[in-house]
Amino acid sequence: MHTPIKGFSKLTQKGKTEWIVDEIFNGDQSIVDLLESYLHPDESIQKLHNEFIENTITNYYLPLGVAPNFLINDTLYTIPMAIEESSVVAAAAKAAQFWLKRGGFKTTILGTEKIGHVHFIFSGESKKLESFFAENKKTLINSTDDITANMRARGGGITDIRLVNKTQDLEDYYQLDVRFQTCDSMGANFINSCLERLAETLTGLIDGDNRFTDSEKQVQIVMRILSNYTPNCLVRAEVSCPISELSEEEGVSAKEFAEKFYRAVRIAEIEPYRATTHNKGIFNGIDAVVLATGNDFRAVEAAGHTHASRNGKYESLTHCSVENDTFRFWIEIPLSVGVVGGLTALHPMVKFAHKMLGNPSAEQLMGIIAASGLAQNFAALRALVTSGIQKGHMKMHLLNILNQLEATDEEKQAFVEYFKDKTVSHNAVVRKFCEMRGIQYESFAKK
Ligand code: NAD
Repeated sequence: MHTPIKGFSKLTQKGKTEWIVDEIFNGDQSIVDLLESYLHPDESIQKLHNEFIENTITNYYLPLGVAPNFLINDTLYTIPMAIEESSVVAAAAKAAQFWLKRGGFKTTILGTEKIGHVHFIFSGESKKLESFFAENKKTLINSTDDITANMRARGGGITDIRLVNKTQDLEDYYQLDVRFQTCDSMGANFINSCLERLAETLTGLIDGDNRFTDSEKQVQIVMRILSNYTPNCLVRAEVSCPISELSEEEGVSAKEFAEKFYRAVRIAEIEPYRATTHNKGIFNGIDAVVLATGNDFRAVEAAGHTHASRNGKYESLTHCSVENDTFRFWIEIPLSVGVVGGLTALHPMVKFAHKMLGNPSAEQLMGIIAASGLAQNFAALRALVTSGIQKGHMKMHLLNILNQLEATDEEKQAFVEYFKDKTVSHNAVVRKFCEMRGIQYESFAKK
């Protein structure tokens, strides 16, 4: 156990590293070398990274992969994906290739509305508050004019405010429920700034209004914050083809494949245990693109999971139909993402990712991300209903296992060749590794 520290954030980067090495790693200098080896050689780029967050001591690398051949609304994309899980990019690329020959992905923006709330406590007559709100709605909106001017010029801004009475759920609890259009930005900071101003205006107006008693004027603003649940910032991505074009999969006929696939989706629609894993697979694709494009994957995940629970039970985010000889597979998901703001103009790799996608608008990016999630889910279900998921997954994981075993490049090559027609398991790889090196498996496996 090390001792607590005061003022850690005020130490220099070197000072922070020294404290960590001394206090947590008993002065082990190899830790300094490790942390330094991950610093960027270009000081200006390192400075940029240092300033993204507090207490930066080094960088944390993730691979940036690309999935080519994504045909989305008749435009071909190579999609950047930042992710650690070995099979994700390969699966996305495989699904993209499959749908490339079958018309690709079609996406539709169903809405782009964002939401924020002023959560407040009013201990008084709700009727009085309602009439006050109706009379002052415009004044409330106008009080944000200086903040919203540029957004309004872009075609966005505040689109509506409602007073919501929540006193049945929590004593004296009301909301200003505010609707926004934030154009090409995700809008979190813009929304929060507007909400803070609205709260200030609200308390000021109530305070100066004679219809309220002194005790009613004691409004308590509890929070002013955007909601990450954006059910009306929604995108749909879809693939479809005649069943006969699905082709034979691992000895399963096209018709049988379509039926099994449909059932697998139905199971995820009705069974939360399966839905959770099913949606996790969708987020494999979505998070990787969200991260690569410098967007907020926590916000996107939170919205997606709430959306998946909107009917009172956690359900699949994708759906499938097999009707009139047509196979259709689609996703509808709230995606609040930006192509300006946040890190988008700062992080060199994020800028690269946007450029590679042709500098899309926020709406186009929503479509690209939704298509990635759908592709990922298609690849996973395709494997699950035919050969099983481990075959492809473990093949991709083989190099991770070999790296853990510290295999040489020649050994790795030999293993990839050896496992071409065999099922990879951790155990099988370790056994073969021992055999190759002439080590006794039993004693090696115990280590
Ligand atoms: P931001 O604060 O960087 O602001 C974006 C700004 O860019 C806009 O407010 C606008 O002034 C400007 N802009 C220029 N051109 C524009 C265009 N064409 N369309 C729209 N705006 C344009 O970013 P943001 O989008 O307000 O907030 C996103 C960031 O906030 C993310 O980094 C996110 O992680 C973070 N955040 C998230 C939460 C949350 O999700 N709960 C809370 C706080 C902060």
